Amino acid sequence: MHCLFCTIAAKEIPASIRHEDAEIVAFDDIHPKAPTHVLVVPKAHIPSVRELTANDAALMGRLVLVAAKLAEDAGIGERGYKLVMNCGKEGGQVVPHLHLHLLGGKPLQGIV
Ligand code: 5GP
Ligand code: ZN
Repeated sequence: MHCLFCTIAAKEIPASIRHEDAEIVAFDDIHPKAPTHVLVVPKAHIPSVRELTANDAALMGRLVLVAAKLAEDAGIGERGYKLVMNCGKEGGQVVPHLHLHLLGGKPLQGIV
């Protein structure tokens, strides 16, 4: 199956990887919307939030914990940042492999 983020997770196309463990890979967004813009991605192919089950609860918690650590690593923890997960067309999801955006390094008030 062709999936962009599965391909990145498999290291078949390059990305600037910020974190990797058995379940999760995190890499810089190719079109950053803020000075820090990292995508935190489960290695398992989950298309979106809609497909999550109770079995994924720990994994989803770990995505947030990895994002929080990456924010500290990037030096933006105290200033603050935004975590965003888009779902579906009207949610603005373009890549159909679940991912958490870590955005920071500039004021991001607005929308929510
Ligand atoms: P979405 O809109 O699905 O929530 O976010 C998808 C994100 O993936 C976008 O912010 C987009 O810039 C990023 N993206 C798209 N293609 C690539 C790519 O090939 N490499 C990386 N690192 N990011 C990508
Ligand atoms: Zn995938």
